[in-house]
Amino acid sequence: GELKKRVDRIDIAGCEPGEEDAFYVADMGEVYRQHMRWKMNLGRVKPFYAVKCNPDPEVLRLMAKLGNGFDCASKTEIDLALKTGIDPSRIIYAQPCKTRSYLRYARQKGVKQMTFDNADELYKIKNDFPDAELYLRILTDDSTSLCRLSMKFGASLDTARALLDLAKKLELNVVGVSFHVGSGAEDPGAFLKAAQDARWVFDQAAEVGYELHTLDVGGGFCDDTFEQFAAILSKAVDDLFPAHIRIIAEPGRYYVAAAFTLAANVIARRDVFDPQTSSGSYMIYLNDGVYGNFSNIIFDHQHPIAQILTCANGSVPPTPGLTASGSSTPDPSADDPLRVPAGVEYSIWGPTCDGIDVISSQIVLPGLVDVGDWLYFEDMGAYTRCSATRFNGFPDNHDVIYVSSESGASALLEY
Ligand code: PLP
Repeated sequence: GELKKRVDRIDIAGCEPGEEDAFYVADMGEVYRQHMRWKMNLGRVKPFYAVKCNPDPEVLRLMAKLGNGFDCASKTEIDLALKTGIDPSRIIYAQPCKTRSYLRYARQKGVKQMTFDNADELYKIKNDFPDAELYLRILTDDSTSLCRLSMKFGASLDTARALLDLAKKLELNVVGVSFHVGSGAEDPGAFLKAAQDARWVFDQAAEVGYELHTLDVGGGFCDDTFEQFAAILSKAVDDLFPAHIRIIAEPGRYYVAAAFTLAANVIARRDVFDPQTSSGSYMIYLNDGVYGNFSNIIFDHQHPIAQILTCANGSVPPTPGLTASGSSTPDPSADDPLRVPAGVEYSIWGPTCDGIDVISSQIVLPGLVDVGDWLYFEDMGAYTRCSATRFNGFPDNHDVIYVSSESGASALLEY
């Protein structure tokens, strides 16, 4: 509804530059429902929302109101989280390799909780923030996840004991263990194995003289598999960690992926009818692409699906090739009563000069999309806008229209 309302107000033939820019509609009710679903299934685990996934200010405001913490990766993310008015104890600086000036900044702001996974980091922390509350991030098997993280971060179990010994020698304050099974994880067994490894590290830490109080199970939760993962994780933590151990998590994608829908305008079209094969398709060019909000195609290995929002030519599927050949291509199956109209074939491209800027290399849509029409894409809330660039001079600060399909969220956000 909101998508349509907005595009109906835009006059493509006469509008100012940029008025037809791509924009989002964000349903805060969806974020709220995900929170309730989390509480139902993972009641013992307190979420620290991963700001990197989508630092939208209204999302952060809702997280704060819901009582969640924040997982921050940088000074800017710490500032964004603090701007919601939360206490610094609700932040974990979950980046095992930190910028030294950011470490001092965290100290100045009272953001004590942070992760580490190597000896050099411990020496830095000793210098810049000696009374920080440290979580040893351990390596996981992330081989089935969409975005693998373990080639970059995580201490192997072979090194965990030496790191704990060093931390003790440096008189640092280790309080917990963290892990991340990889973003978009597919194997719930990865959580079980990681929880077992974390238990082993808790026991090693006890031998060194640390009484760890928190386990951080990271992110990696997906919409489709959430209940299955949550069941395995809940059982693992209940079996392995007594009730006085606090369990936290760093979900990102789970909370926001489905809440954001992106609308983009068709700025150009090219008919690629092939007279040799009597078949054809159209190349259409949108005003957003992989260098913009579709950065999730490159960085997050996603395949956003286009749907028609407005189509001035209507939704009866005509045969492509009309504009190139001047006459319609004969369709051999047109007389078949069982034939389902297949629609028109397109490839969808972004607005930059680069050939890598392709959103869909082949998709069939039920209408003849033309310049000025609008397409929309659901599930565009995770790792999209936050990794957009301004390459070729296209903007990365798209408007967001906030709505709420859930009264609980409306009440919390006062709209
Ligand atoms: N925590 C850390 C340290 C991460 O690196 C990430 C994602 O890269 C997340 C949490 C969020 O992961 P997800 O969006 O899969 O929940």
